This record gives sequence, C-alpha cells and structure tokens, in this order.
Amino acid sequence: MLEAETIKRGDDSGNGTLLKYTSPTGAVVKAIGVPQSWNTPLGPTWCYVVEGNDLTLVDPGCHGSVDYLEQGLEELGHSLASVNNIVISHGHLDHDGSCLPVVQKSGAQLWAHEVYGTMLQADRWEMETSWRRDVQSFEAFENSNTATRVKDHHERNRQLTLNHPVTDELQSDGLTFYYTPGHSPDELCILFDQFLFSGDHILPLITPHPSVAMSYNTFQSTLPAAYQGGNKIYGLIALLTSLKRMATLEGDLTVLPAHRAFHRGKFNPIGVERATEIVEHHRERCYELIEIIKRGPIELAVLTKQYFAHRELEEHNFFLAFTEVMSHIELMQESGDVTTSADPAKGSVWSNGLGSGALISWEGTDRFSALIDGL
Ligand SMILES: [Zn+2]
Repeated sequence: MLEAETIKRGDDSGNGTLLKYTSPTGAVVKAIGVPQSWNTPLGPTWCYVVEGNDLTLVDPGCHGSVDYLEQGLEELGHSLASVNNIVISHGHLDHDGSCLPVVQKSGAQLWAHEVYGTMLQADRWEMETSWRRDVQSFEAFENSNTATRVKDHHERNRQLTLNHPVTDELQSDGLTFYYTPGHSPDELCILFDQFLFSGDHILPLITPHPSVAMSYNTFQSTLPAAYQGGNKIYGLIALLTSLKRMATLEGDLTVLPAHRAFHRGKFNPIGVERATEIVEHHRERCYELIEIIKRGPIELAVLTKQYFAHRELEEHNFFLAFTEVMSHIELMQESGDVTTSADPAKGSVWSNGLGSGALISWEGTDRFSALIDGL
C-alpha cells in the first residue's frame, strides 16, 4: 500500500492536515482532515479530493465545518465553487453533514447509494428511536447533544436531491462503486485506480459500529423495491458479508478510510486485509459474549453492562454499546446458539425477541463461527 505525502501538517489527530497519495500509475488523491464540530476522540473526517476530468469530493464532512473544507481546498489550489461532484460514503452526519452548503455554493452533483436517496426523505431518526424508548437508560440519550445533532442533520438534508442514485458495481469517471451495507444501510466503498475509499466500512485502529438487523423491519416498506424482499442490509451478518467481499478485491489496494488515517501523530496505512481483521474481531466478540451468557439467562442491558464493565457507559456510549451487543446476539440467534424467552409482563419485547422483558439463554453451541465462515 502507498505512503502518504504530507502537504501541510495540522494537529496530532490530523485536523487541518493535507495529504497527497500518488499511485504507481500516476493517479493522485489528496486528503483534507476536516475537523468535527463537537468534542470527540474520533479525530477528523478525511475528505478525499479526486482531480480527474471533474473535481470530486468524497465525504465533505460534518455540519459547521465547511470553512475548514473550503480552506483546505484553496490550499490545494481549488475553490469550493469548482467542485463538480460530491460522493457520499453513507448518510451519517460526520460524512454528509456539510453537503447542503457545499451543494449550494458549488452546484455540484450529488452521488450516493440509492438507499441513501430514500433515507433522505424517510424520518430515519423517528423510525430508529421508537424502540429505544422502551429501555429506561435511553432517556438520557434522547436528550443528549448527539440526539439533537442527528435530528438537525435529518431536517437539513431533507432539502438535498440525490442526482445520481448509485447501485452496486456502477462505474463512472474512473470510479467503481461497491455497495457494502452493514454499518449503515447505504454504505459505499469506492474504487479509484489503486485506491479504495472505504468510508466507515474499513477503518484502521477502530471497528465500524454494526447496525441492528431489527431496524430492517422498520424501514422495509420505505426502501426501493429491490431491497424489500428480506434483510440483507442491516445487522452484523450484512456487515461481515460486506467486509468479506471487500477483502477479496484484487490488486495492491490502498484503503483510504474516513477516520483515523492519521492519529496521535502517526499514519495508519491499511489495505483490504484490514477487512478480515475486523471480521475476526467480531467473531472473537461473539465468543466473549457466550462466556457471559453461559453463566445463566441474562437480559440484554445487563449483558451489555457486564461485557463493557471496564468502560464508562453513559448516554450515547451506552446506546452504542447496547446496539453493538444486540447485533452480535442477533447473529447468534440466527446460528441457533442463543434463544430468548420473553415475558412481556416484565418489560417490552421487540420484533427480534430481545428487550427488557426478554432473557437470553445459551444453547450449548458455537455455530456462529461456522456461520461467519460461510458468509
Ligand atoms: Zn464516520
């Protein structure tokens, strides 16, 4: 994989940093470390600049950061107005939050997966939160700054029009789009020359947060017809399937992730083999969760607290941890290793059999590992 050349050094997380990657064929990609507008250890969103026939930006960054993007572009010799295309890896606010002002200032064409287009109109937040209210600890989350940011993001992006709804393996102006759902139902990886823009699908140092399979039930009827036949786009199985697919891409590819390309003063170069490492991380997590469930039937919230006992789990951290564990339990329900017994009198039970009124029990097997191998 290719080394980055530093055009301008920003801070130790990469905020304000400008990078340049040159492939053996001479293809050039530049990167701007666009800071987040809130306090987070995540570091910047890496916005990639492709100088082809057109000027293309991959993931402009979060709302409120457009001045940093504009400054970075100018230092690279471009104006915001000269941007022709914006490609969105997926519809999360740290990636497409500044889309609206960038489109308004540049008149650029918007490219994203076709599911992204449907999601712009559907009230993603409302649909995703209805079940959260059933668990007491989520109240704090719903009133958090994170929740407010997500709601504002949705309202703002309703004004966007997706000019180019992308489907799997579409090719345009040297870009090949791969549909890689799992972290988000609209996630894309984009191949350009020997570079793979991986959004949040393949990240160095950290692993993408899996969505929960149950969300599919809520969104099914709003999705394009091709996605209504059964869930292949939400949950850990979808994520692992997409990771395994990217791991098989051939050639000496340099993966250009949306986060952590540079962190704590160091570059973190990765190739597609990082996708396999992430698959193995989730297999290991299933084994670790089984170790706790073996001790006796347990509620999901209790399991989450025990599993993440070493970490602070407040507000949105608890929610992220809870859904992370849920996605693994869903996979092990699918493989038949765990079952749930519901008692609606004790709390709520959701469509996947989990909830505060449900106990998770171990069936004495670990067939999840074979299930993962078979994806
Ligand atoms: Zn992200």
